[in-house]
Amino acid sequence: MRVTIFGAGYVGLVTGACLAQMGNQVVCLDVDTGKVARLQAGDVPIHEPGLDKLIRANAAAKRLSFTTDAAAAVAHGKLIFIGVGTPPEEDGSADLQHVLAAARTIGQHMQDFKVVVDKSTVPVGTADRVRDAIAQSLRERGLALEFAVASNPEFLKEGAAVADFMKPDRIVIGAEDERAILLLRNLYAPFNRNHERVQLMDTRSAELTKYAANAMLATRISFMNEMALLAERVGADIEMVRRGIGSDPRIGTHFLYAGAGYGGSCFPKDVKALIHSGALQGVDLGVLRAVEAANERQKLVLVDKVLARLGADLTGRHLAVWGLAFKPNTDDMREAPARVVVRELLARGATLCAHDPVAMDEARRVFGAQAGLSYAASPEAALEGADALLILTEWATFRSPDFDLFKTALRQALVFDGRNLFDPRLLHLLGIEYHAIGRAAPA
Ligand code: NAD
Repeated sequence: MRVTIFGAGYVGLVTGACLAQMGNQVVCLDVDTGKVARLQAGDVPIHEPGLDKLIRANAAAKRLSFTTDAAAAVAHGKLIFIGVGTPPEEDGSADLQHVLAAARTIGQHMQDFKVVVDKSTVPVGTADRVRDAIAQSLRERGLALEFAVASNPEFLKEGAAVADFMKPDRIVIGAEDERAILLLRNLYAPFNRNHERVQLMDTRSAELTKYAANAMLATRISFMNEMALLAERVGADIEMVRRGIGSDPRIGTHFLYAGAGYGGSCFPKDVKALIHSGALQGVDLGVLRAVEAANERQKLVLVDKVLARLGADLTGRHLAVWGLAFKPNTDDMREAPARVVVRELLARGATLCAHDPVAMDEARRVFGAQAGLSYAASPEAALEGADALLILTEWATFRSPDFDLFKTALRQALVFDGRNLFDPRLLHLLGIEYHAIGRAAPA
């Protein structure tokens, strides 16, 4: 099938590459000329496991191409996905300017029937606004062409995006138009082979499903982070509690990890947008307001522990930081807790040496030329001469370090772990002072 995708970001690129891999002819359109030029030259601008290979193979097979030419891109696809960004506005609502600009572009260029599919995360009612924007552009051209608008929210996880897209838990299709439903079913048939994953529903329910999913996951994290605060005070271990509750199938084991707060491009903005949608309808989503407030507090928990241990003035202190990305296997630092932690520590006079396996280029872009912040090529090198180590991302390569280095490379064997990577009893035995989240230090 011929597919066009607006937006060559995390979602657009993964969707485009995976659909091309199933034999579709895919054109990705982006307004960022630099990004498109890099992609055309075979350079993939984001880190996502398996994505480089998939893009290169499908581009070489001429099933996947990248363009800034909107007229050609719109002419190409029978199915046109909108996968552009929906960042938060000042008031927390989702900024739909890119989605509606894409819709207008489609209306300005289409010559025949199209199925337009919202893949971006958008508030309930956006499909109607997309429909209106396309119709308006068509009217301005004096045309009355037929088209359908559907919602197909994306549930991929950054860091495992290709695998998630290839083997989805569910494929939500919100559509009322029969042609849209049949075309989308056909498109997703290769991803839906062993058991039925397609969940067909009305457009509004599909739009809300995406927000409800992310809000539920964020709720679990903030809940566990609050339990962790209590666990520390009462001398309990949140890791024991996590296992204890996770074995109940009604609760389940996923997304129960206490840590330094959630980040990323989705949870923070989607929780905010949902709260805003609720307020517009006169529904106070108080649980989610608390989830958000708890997360903001949590991003500072590790800093508070450092200050409690080393004093409020960190002038002259040098700290090692392991992990900058908001989670492992990605270079994405949008809303990463590391942004808050690094800024706070620098503001209190500390100097920092950070290492992240893939996010250091992104960190240089995010932090710019910050006095006091340097980068190390390896986790071990970051430790040299530091007063303490802070761990902010649970990269697998941080999980089994040479613990002796904590004693020899650091000026004192002191570790603040925002991701609970190690067993406190082991570090205690090894003579390493270890501060984790929700885990009382052994007596
Ligand atoms: P992104 O910022 O990585 O990419 C968006 C791209 O859209 C950018 O390259 C931008 O230049 C391009 N763009 C903006 N306006 C355009 C236009 N008018 N025409 C063509 N291209 C345009 O964003 P992302 O992370 O891929 O997210 C996209 C959407 O998918 C968001 O709504 C997000 O909430 C949702 N989503 C993201 C994830 C994720 O893990 N990143 C997962 C599920 C859903």
